Amino acid sequence: MSITTQIAHLRSSLPPHVELVAVSKTHPVEAIEEAYQAGQRCFGESRPQELKAKYEALPKDICWHMIGHLQTNKIKYIAPFVTLIESVDSARLCEAIEREAAKCGRVIDILLEVHVAAEASKTGWEPTELIAYIESGAIDALTHLRVRGIMGIASNTDDEAVIRADFDHLHHLYKQLQPRFGNSFDTLSMGMSDDYPLAIDCGSTSVRIGSMIFGERSYPQP
Ligand SMILES: *Cc1c(COP(=O)(O)O)cnc(C)c1O
Repeated sequence: MSITTQIAHLRSSLPPHVELVAVSKTHPVEAIEEAYQAGQRCFGESRPQELKAKYEALPKDICWHMIGHLQTNKIKYIAPFVTLIESVDSARLCEAIEREAAKCGRVIDILLEVHVAAEASKTGWEPTELIAYIESGAIDALTHLRVRGIMGIASNTDDEAVIRADFDHLHHLYKQLQPRFGNSFDTLSMGMSDDYPLAIDCGSTSVRIGSMIFGERSYPQP
């Protein structure tokens, strides 16, 4: 199926409160242009330099989400324009984004990435570490960051019960943290091509969908 068809299908089938982030990592500018023509304005990328190059080549009303692991020395490529950094997984990264955002005179929206999956390799805060960091108050001093919510990835398994338990875990944590940050804490980013209906069932407000829209990726991503 074409990119246009898939975008139309998703836009008509997702509940109105769920944002669609089209994950365009590894795909060429032409593929993003096709999705853009179909009305899609929000795209996710996982490499800072690739994100910057696409930003420069494409219309400026696109919202760019950084969804991949971010090294502190690469924040500078995206800090001037990025809409949301979804993959913030350490105190050190929070502090580095704070510095780059201040340099740009911006407040950058972020999600805190939480590790709930069974695989040890996945990035993100352990829930207890995240809660301890937030309780410490250190994040409140970072005035150029706005914490919009949390992001997570479910275990890589066909077992629906396990995936649902991961999403329930993320949703529980989201609800637990919401009063701490107030009204601007409104984003629970969970769900990908293979598991987004389940994620929406469990309270997702934003799904990150790549291969279902753009097809298989041409080269592997970390
Ligand atoms: C690549 C990626 C996606 C999209 O995955 P698909 O299975 O292609 O939909 C979503 N979230 C993150 C964090 C990713 O790295």
